[in-house]
Amino acid sequence: MIATDAEIEARTAKRTAELQKSIKELQENPRVINIRVIVPAEACPVCQGIAGTYAKNAVPQMPPEGCSCPRGFEGYAQPMLNVIYP
Ligand SMILES: [Zn+2]
Repeated sequence: MIATDAEIEARTAKRTAELQKSIKELQENPRVINIRVIVPAEACPVCQGIAGTYAKNAVPQMPPEGCSCPRGFEGYAQPMLNVIYP
């Protein structure tokens, strides 16, 4: 089944809302120092460009402006915890 633009738009909007919420939670968690942005291997070049590790308050806008992923933005954020090394 091929998703219509409206379906992709609705799915991306839902995913974006969830992502913003989880990023906000990570930013409020003192144990989280950095946030790693992960995008699928088949993501568009704009998305590939924002993949990486950021200070938790400097996370790029997601979906990034100009994203052209065929199935909508599918990246996500992963917390980098403050690990105390011995
Ligand atoms: Zn994209």
